[in-house]
Amino acid sequence: MESWSPQVLIQKSQEAKTLAFCPYSNFRVGAAVLTSDGNVFTGCSVENACYSLAMCAERTAICKAVSEGYTAFKAIAIASDLEDRFISPCGACRQVMREFGLQWDVYLSKTDGGQKN
Ligand SMILES: [Zn+2]
Repeated sequence: MESWSPQVLIQKSQEAKTLAFCPYSNFRVGAAVLTSDGNVFTGCSVENACYSLAMCAERTAICKAVSEGYTAFKAIAIASDLEDRFISPCGACRQVMREFGLQWDVYLSKTDGGQKN
């Protein structure tokens, strides 16, 4: 377990962004989810030549957590290369988040570290 704050979660999402596999869009996205007991799982976007098979960073992080036995979440932070706008989860990711409850704090960020929840 690590201590956390919104800033720490955003920092971890920004680190995860650097691992994004995005040869088609060159648009990097990272995410970090916080479980209810304080564990953090990160994920990055993973694109595919068949575009519809691409996996968002948010769902990558959630699936990593679930596959390790964690299904209760407190928060998610999302990072991208957008400089003047906040990155926001897509509909598919919102549906997956909804599967695991309505208690999410969602931290959107910009490249300069600006945040919004
Ligand atoms: Zn998504």
